[in-house]
Amino acid sequence: MPAPRLAGMQTRTSPLELVAPAGSLAALKAAIEAGADTVYLGLKNATNARNFAGLNFTESDIRAGVELAHSKNRQVLFAINTFVQAGRGHEWREAVDAAHALGADAVIMADAGLLGYARDRYPDLRLHLSVQGSATHTDAIELMKEQFGIRRVVLPRVLTLAEIARICANVSVEVEVFGFGSLCVMAEGRCLLSSYATGDSPNNKGVCSPASAVRWVEEDGRLDARLNGILIDRYGPGEAAAYPTLCKGRFEVDGVADHALEEPTSLNAIGLLPRLAEMGVSAIKIEGRQRSPAYVTQVVSTLRAALDSAHVDPNRYSPRPEWNATLARHAEGSQVTQGAFERPWK
Ligand code: SF4
Repeated sequence: MPAPRLAGMQTRTSPLELVAPAGSLAALKAAIEAGADTVYLGLKNATNARNFAGLNFTESDIRAGVELAHSKNRQVLFAINTFVQAGRGHEWREAVDAAHALGADAVIMADAGLLGYARDRYPDLRLHLSVQGSATHTDAIELMKEQFGIRRVVLPRVLTLAEIARICANVSVEVEVFGFGSLCVMAEGRCLLSSYATGDSPNNKGVCSPASAVRWVEEDGRLDARLNGILIDRYGPGEAAAYPTLCKGRFEVDGVADHALEEPTSLNAIGLLPRLAEMGVSAIKIEGRQRSPAYVTQVVSTLRAALDSAHVDPNRYSPRPEWNATLARHAEGSQVTQGAFERPWK
């Protein structure tokens, strides 16, 4: 029997819902402990865009996670956020069946066929349009509502604050935006770079740079990071090493070794919370289901403190230096940006 839905039962300390990542039951517990309103998770298979080996949930883990979350009046969102592969539709449909049977409060999806399946089969199941649905304007979002009855859209990380404000003012669904976490240049889940090197990509296996293809080789005081044999980065003594992804590797171009595509950086919107709340954003999401429970604890508790402070006195709100220091420690490359929210480019 599905667990009862929780609409209206939240006891929030901020109107902005804090949505936290969980790649394991331990991370889910950490998120709830640290003050997340909602946790999102996925199965150990290709239906999940964070399908890293050793991470994610079995159905019995999800049952336990949902039970724990609901006992604390928190919610669980079930990410089925990759695109269905030809001839394997039953795997994705079974994930939707599991989400409903296990009492998830909503499913996060992008695939139109799968949204249609969920709409027809489980009319009581709340549907959120994944960031990978790439809906960046009012007409696209309203069409998804009309067609599938989506109740929330997760906006792609390419929009300015002014564009988000316009969307919030004109759509009839909840709006969720990213507030913290790693950024990359992918077209929200459609990147194939990883598959050129390893055969696996976010789109076909739910994973970029699968761990089985990663090798760390230490020699003469330097550390080489390789992906399926391809040298992605070479670190000198004492240099902080990052997980090797093709887009963030350092390559030699015209005799200069540098980040040829993009430098590892994380989004940090902690300074924008009152503005996001004022424009009508409903939820702030933290990226990082591939990260540890310690990351979840630190980032969620920092965002929790910031959201509560922004709610109590939005006009005098300013992020505390220690909050930014904590977030910078957990940022990729130890550096942060407000990304497209305040982008000076067009
Ligand atoms: S290769 Fe880079 S841009 Fe592509 S999905 Fe992986 S991290 Fe993102």
